[in-house]
Amino acid sequence: MDRFRYSTALIRNKPLKTIDTLNPTASESWQQQLNHAFSQVDALCHYLNIDMDSLPELQANASFPVKVPRCFADCMEPGNPDDPLLKQVLPLQEENIAVAGFVSDPVGDLAAMAEAGLIHKYQGRALLITTAACAIHCRYCFRRNFPYIDNQITPQKRHRALDYIAHHSELEEIILSGGDPLLLSDNKLEQLLENLQKIPHIKRIRLHSRLPVVLPARITPHLVQLLASGPQKTILVLHANHPNELSAQVAVACQQLKSRNITLLNQSVLLKGVNDCADTLYALSERLFECDILPYYLHQLDPAQGTAHFAISDSKALSLYHQIQSRLPGYLVPKLVREIAGAAYKIPLMR
Ligand code: SF4
Repeated sequence: MDRFRYSTALIRNKPLKTIDTLNPTASESWQQQLNHAFSQVDALCHYLNIDMDSLPELQANASFPVKVPRCFADCMEPGNPDDPLLKQVLPLQEENIAVAGFVSDPVGDLAAMAEAGLIHKYQGRALLITTAACAIHCRYCFRRNFPYIDNQITPQKRHRALDYIAHHSELEEIILSGGDPLLLSDNKLEQLLENLQKIPHIKRIRLHSRLPVVLPARITPHLVQLLASGPQKTILVLHANHPNELSAQVAVACQQLKSRNITLLNQSVLLKGVNDCADTLYALSERLFECDILPYYLHQLDPAQGTAHFAISDSKALSLYHQIQSRLPGYLVPKLVREIAGAAYKIPLMR
C-alpha cells in the first residue's frame, strides 16, 4: 500500500515542512483530489486492507452516496473495521430504519427560509446556502435530506437573497454554508464575498467548512488571500470530530489561515462509536489548539432521518462533558449544545 498514515504522536514530532514529501496526493490539485475521492466502500476497504465481511451490514445503493477524499482515508487506521473516521462515512443498512423523532428537517431550516437559499433563524445573523456539494459525505449530516434542488441558487435567487440582506440592517454577520462553501470556485467565492462586502452593516463573514480538515489542499495561497482581503472580519468554523482527522497537512493549512488573522473555530458532533469517550474529546481539544483552532461547539446529534445509530443519551453527553471540563482549561472546552427548531439560539445541555 503506497500511502502514509499519520498518528497523532507522529504529527506532533514531524517538522511541518516535510509533510508534502510524505503525502502521495500532495502533487494533485484540490480539484483532482476531489475527483479521485472514494465513491465505493469496496475500493475504500481495499485501500485500507479491511475485509468487507468484518463490517456491519451496508446499503448497496445508498441514496446519500459514499464520498471520501483519499487524504481523509489516509487518516484512518489500515486493517481496523472500527476506525472512528471510517464509521463516519459507512452507509449502514441501519440508516433505512425509521426511528421516531428522526426527521428530514431536524433543525427547522425550511421554516426559517427567508428567501431561496437564505436561512434567517437568529437575530443579527443569517445563513446562505452556497452549494449542495460537499467533499465528504458524513452519514450523520443534519442536512442529508435537505431539498437542495428546490433551493438551487440561480443568479436571480442569489440577487433576491442579497437584496434581503441589504434591506435588513440588523444582520451583522452572514454565514456561508451548504454543502460546503469552500467547494465554490475561487471566482464564484470572490464574487459572493465582494457582494457581501458592499453591504455596510455586515461586520463579519463566517464560513462553515469541513474542507480544511478533509481536503486541506483546498487552502491555497489564493484562497487565503481571498478570505483575508475584505474589510470585514472573517471567521472559519471547521468541523472535526476526532483528533485523528487533524493531520499534519491540516495543521499547515490552519497555520496559513491563521497567519492572515482568520479566526479559526471548530464544531464537533457527539457520535456513538466515534468520539463518545472523554479521552478522545480531551485529545481533540488539545490537537485543535496545536492547530491554532479553538473548540467552539460540541453538538448533541441533530435527529436527522437515517442517523439514529449515532445518537448517545443526554446523560452520557453530560457525563462526558463534565469529565473534559475537569481536565481542560476553560478555553479548550467547547459549549455542549443542542439545536432546537424554532429556538432563538442553540440550547446548552444542562443537568
Ligand atoms: S461536510 Fe457538513 S454539510 Fe457536508 S455532509 Fe458533512 S456534515 Fe453534512
